[in-house]
Amino acid sequence: ILQLYKSFSTMPPAIVNDKQYDYLVIGGGSGGLASARRASTYGFKVGLIESSGRLGGTCVNVGCVPKKVMFNTASIAEALHDANQYGFDLPSIPKFDWNYLKKKRDAYIKRLNGIYLSNLNKDKVDYIEGKASFVSKNVVKVEYNGSIEEITAKKILIATGGHPRIPHEIPGSELGISSDGFFDLEEQPKRVMVVGTGYIGVELAGIFNTLGTDTTIMTRSGEILRTFDPIIKDTLLDQSKKEGLRVLTYGHVQSLSRDPPDGPIKVQFTSKETNDTTEEFDVLLWAIGRKPNIKDLNLENIGIKLNDDGHIVHDDCQNTTVEEIYALGDVCGVAQLTPVAIAAGRRLSDRLFGGPKFINSKLDYNNIPTVVFHGTCGSVGLTEPQAQKKYGIENVKAYTSKFVNLYNAMTEQKPATAYKLVVVGEEEKVVGVHIIGRDSAEILQGFAVAVKMGATKNDFDNTVAIHPTAAEELVTMR
Ligand code: FAD
Ligand code: NDP
Repeated sequence: ILQLYKSFSTMPPAIVNDKQYDYLVIGGGSGGLASARRASTYGFKVGLIESSGRLGGTCVNVGCVPKKVMFNTASIAEALHDANQYGFDLPSIPKFDWNYLKKKRDAYIKRLNGIYLSNLNKDKVDYIEGKASFVSKNVVKVEYNGSIEEITAKKILIATGGHPRIPHEIPGSELGISSDGFFDLEEQPKRVMVVGTGYIGVELAGIFNTLGTDTTIMTRSGEILRTFDPIIKDTLLDQSKKEGLRVLTYGHVQSLSRDPPDGPIKVQFTSKETNDTTEEFDVLLWAIGRKPNIKDLNLENIGIKLNDDGHIVHDDCQNTTVEEIYALGDVCGVAQLTPVAIAAGRRLSDRLFGGPKFINSKLDYNNIPTVVFHGTCGSVGLTEPQAQKKYGIENVKAYTSKFVNLYNAMTEQKPATAYKLVVVGEEEKVVGVHIIGRDSAEILQGFAVAVKMGATKNDFDNTVAIHPTAAEELVTMR
């Protein structure tokens, strides 16, 4: 009997193959969930595979949602600093309990995971837990806890997102954490170095700094938020330094080491401000971009085309190079934002399953508004240099305004608020709105509608201002 048992236990797991779907979605994040649920509302049989054991993807678990909670926390810290100047008798700034907030934040996210699951059930989407990979064009293998299942589907969506890039070529790089590790921190670190000054680097460094961590941020160029309009990146750089953030430019990390194992991380690096040096930090956070989640998918079994960065090549209807296999969201590497993945997912399902009315349904990737939650910075449309390149310098005009928000009339700190409208041609069509300052995240959405509709500077001017606000500057610029 023992022999029989041993031979069974070494046998490969039996492959079950009894499920068939009209639409099979790989990835239970922003894009996958949205697309699966929309397809199911049209009466088709839909399955969704998720490998992490929790629904919601990057945004819910290690992205937008916990990040915004931390940004809100930092905003409260700022308000507490301002309180005395508004006449409140706060003898000292109350101590912040990072661990208390982390536990509460984790519990909130767990609740969201449950809500996403019940939404799938409500919409009659089959939830399949496990890691998906392609066997062939219409067959996907799902591995879960040692069992293997093969699922057949007519159409398949790849919405597997991405993960943080760690520079393995740098000795000791594994001693650093990524944005995923940021959300695992149980206690607030005292000294942090953040490497990378894109969205994640700038947002997380801003949160650390505002909450009182001694924060250094390193850019490999002379700029931060390099791809944004000059009015945003220059104002933010200046403002960040005034807020006590240490910015190292033209920086490069050479190595990381830790001895003893529970001691600080010794970072050997070079920068314009320091030359070659070694400094100690409690945490080093890599924020140098993200890579697509494609490794597990066995894409070679279906011959799908990838670009040089490993992102899935797709056309403007989310078709990949293999018929009836679609891709969207971060795994495609274009505008890596939650609302983009959601919108692309819903439009794809409308087009595939919604009937003739939706035959041309697809996401327009132009004029996607975006916000960086530090500053706060908001941007829609073309930057001034992009507009000049596209339309010619002589056809582009920029209206700008720099001022101190009325909120800061009562405070010692006077961060600059800076707005820019980029307009083209004689009719002065607004092709870009770039704003930095308090509440920019909330201000931008409405202006993005105007840009999307093709508003001109005259349309902005014909709109009566709301007073007293910062946003009114955008309709009163001269
Ligand atoms: P994801 O949401 O990443 O979902 C992919 C899912 O696929 C994951 O759940 C993964 O486990 C699963 N998966 C992967 N491989 C397999 C497999 N082989 N089998 C089964 N399942 C698999 N965007 C904003 O718009 N606003 C923000 O404020 C914002 N903040 C962010 C902050 C941070 C720190 C980060 C990292 C990102 C942030 N983003 C933000 C970006 C946003 O989170 C992503 O653009 C969005 O989540 C992408 O959605 P997706 O569906 O493409 O992928
Ligand atoms: P980003 O592309 O925004 O920024 C990457 C940063 O890493 C840049 O500063 C880049 O420098 C730097 N970098 C790249 N390679 C290296 C290297 N080898 N050494 C040193 N520095 C390097 O990526 P993030 O990881 O910050 O964010 C990923 C995406 O997630 C964003 O593009 C965004 O779409 C999304 N996101 C959105 C948020 C939001 O909506 N608020 C918040 C967070 C993330 P350089 O500028 O010189 O190229």
